[in-house]
Amino acid sequence: MTTIGILALQGAVREHAKAFERAGAEVVLVKKVEQLESIDGLVLPGGESTTMRRLIDKYGFMEPLKAFAAQKKPMFGTCAGLILLASDLVGYSEPHLGVMDIKVERNSFGRQRESFEAALSIKGVGEDFIGVFIRAPHIVEVGQDVEVLAMHGDRIVAAQQGSFLGCSFHPELTDDYRLAQHFVQMVETSSKETV
Ligand code: GLN
Repeated sequence: MTTIGILALQGAVREHAKAFERAGAEVVLVKKVEQLESIDGLVLPGGESTTMRRLIDKYGFMEPLKAFAAQKKPMFGTCAGLILLASDLVGYSEPHLGVMDIKVERNSFGRQRESFEAALSIKGVGEDFIGVFIRAPHIVEVGQDVEVLAMHGDRIVAAQQGSFLGCSFHPELTDDYRLAQHFVQMVETSSKETV
């Protein structure tokens, strides 16, 4: 069975665990660096990226997470997790992990729309996927190897680059597990390729 780790330092951890169990994966809540060895793919959940970054540094996750990415093990960043993956952040001189070739802007949907839902069409996943946006970031620009998977209006809200998947919204907050299933498939394909 495919084992999906959820980085469990802060944020929407339980909800992701439930979503991935429903999507047919075995789930590990990753609280210690050593646990990265026992998983096939990792989810960086939504929450608060600056808090998550502080905890990543505090618990020594920075280099191990970069090594995980360098091994081409799949990573899925949702909302704050997307911010952690991005190579470029609007208004910041340094990225966090900086492993995915995208430019991301934090809290970019404005005050009056701090939280909203929208029906999205997600390439390779399906139609009418309800995206829950909570103080969400969006992807401002993508590099040439990045495939845009979903837009909301004129903004990019989901993208994939090889083993990296990222979205602005919280897919784990609805009962629709199609995006979790998509990530499980990415992980299964990548595990076969590396055998
Ligand atoms: N605004 C948050 C941040 O910058 C992300 C919000 C979320 O993950 N729901 O980290």
